[in-house]
Amino acid sequence: MAETTLKGQRLRGGVRPSKAIEGVRVCEQSNCSTRLSRYNKREFCNQHAPITYPRVRGRFVDEE
Ligand SMILES: [Zn+2]
Repeated sequence: MAETTLKGQRLRGGVRPSKAIEGVRVCEQSNCSTRLSRYNKREFCNQHAPITYPRVRGRFVDEE
């Protein structure tokens, strides 16, 4: 009779997935690693965001 007791072989608290960096995104521009806020819905940082002109009545306003 082989009585094997597996003492001392405890499982330690389960496997945790490595902490995923959720909510942290970077600019889609491949050479740009600017982090985007999770609240920012855009794929690009401010510098690489496609330029969209806000609707201005009648004329373009050059801001910046
Ligand atoms: Zn960028």
